Amino acid sequence: MSDPDRAIWDGMLRHLRAQHPSLCRQWFEEIEPLGIESGTLFLRVHSNVHRDYLRRQGAEPFTEALQTVSGALLSVRFLGPDDEMIVTGSQLSRPGTTAPLLPDSLVINPDYDFSSFVVGPGNRYTHAAAVAVANSPGTSYNPLFIHGRVGLGKTHLLQAICLRVKEQNPGAVIQYLACEAFVAHYTEAIRTGQMSEFRHMFRDVDVLVIDDIHFLAARERSQEEFFHTFNTLYQAHKQIVLSSDAKPQDIPDLEERLVSRFQWGVVTQIEPPDYETRVAILKSKASQRGLDMPDDVANHIAARVENNIRELEGAITKLQLHSAVEGRPIDLSVARAALGEPVAAVSGGPTIQMIIEAVTDFYSVRLTDLQSKRRQRSIALPRQVCMYLARQHTRHSLEEIGGYFGGRDHTTVMHAVRTVGEKRQESSEFDLVLQSLETKVQGRRG
Ligand code: ADP
Ligand code: MG
Repeated sequence: MSDPDRAIWDGMLRHLRAQHPSLCRQWFEEIEPLGIESGTLFLRVHSNVHRDYLRRQGAEPFTEALQTVSGALLSVRFLGPDDEMIVTGSQLSRPGTTAPLLPDSLVINPDYDFSSFVVGPGNRYTHAAAVAVANSPGTSYNPLFIHGRVGLGKTHLLQAICLRVKEQNPGAVIQYLACEAFVAHYTEAIRTGQMSEFRHMFRDVDVLVIDDIHFLAARERSQEEFFHTFNTLYQAHKQIVLSSDAKPQDIPDLEERLVSRFQWGVVTQIEPPDYETRVAILKSKASQRGLDMPDDVANHIAARVENNIRELEGAITKLQLHSAVEGRPIDLSVARAALGEPVAAVSGGPTIQMIIEAVTDFYSVRLTDLQSKRRQRSIALPRQVCMYLARQHTRHSLEEIGGYFGGRDHTTVMHAVRTVGEKRQESSEFDLVLQSLETKVQGRRG
């Protein structure tokens, strides 16, 4: 590829990282720009999964980046390892308008493979079962039934199974879809009289993976159809993998014969991750995005987001956007701000540390004195001044401020703030002292 084209691609990557930080992945580095031909920039990725994913998720942002960087009305075409550089009509159409009539298999997210799945006490058994099934479909556990609350990794594991099967046997026919899509296909097939196509689609496969099977609840005709699909596949030793938000017997209005079939293989539950697992997941997600996540930030987030891993991801995205907007690396104060917590100091404003330094300097006292229980005026006044300044010039809560100064409670801090405020009104001399302290801590801004 010529140098100008290479420069365009480099510019695009920079643009994408700045404008769409949460879309960007570490593997974007490996995308190979092949060149611009007939108004189309061809980009080669190393697998068809990545290609399909980018065609679905990347068409708009990549096109926008290309047009911004080149200043020309160009379009982007993603190629897999074996695709030819041919300009077809399809990339001229707008993204999203080429969706097939029937929803096809869900697009696999290349992020969701086994290597990025963090194993912990809550999912160890389920993970092991998923790996076993992926390594020898149809022979270990059939069906594999995974259940658990939302956001705990069911879809991730289902996709990891698909990716592993494809990797080990590229010719394997996998049908992976949400139960909702199965029901929609079925309804559509009945309406258009295409039942044999429908049956071919779901029964002539090596692996059938259906996400959120609880969607079958109370859908009697779909249940009937799924029952036959299940039997056909099962008898042919084809692998069936299902996920659900509840165990089979707890799915409301599910036919007894389906409940019992779902229990023929292995039924396994995913439990919420513990603290260490959450920290590890955060780090895994951050590294996928090419982010540097310091330990204290990962620990901070993991301690606050407990139940739903999707929220962990949401937190990373917020963090990433926040750091991009502020033009600052990710650190604890960015994390606090991104998560909407009170920050230690207004950006660039004084910190408690600065206040303590200025006050102890001026009154010639030590921090340990301020934190002690001593009540004599020579100590009590500077302590109250510290509390007052911290209250006025940082966003710490009364409790936090009390905590800094010897574990005093919030009423003590409120009292200090009021006392100093009143004294300031009464004594112009004291007011000047405060003003100079304020100038000092403010002057150290930035
Ligand atoms: P579910 O289908 O159970 O609602 P998902 O599979 O969609 O949950 O998981 C939600 C998010 O959490 C996804 O981004 C997924 O990658 C992530 N996740 C869940 N469990 C893990 C894990 N053990 N390791 C890494 N990421 C995980
Ligand atoms: Mg899911």
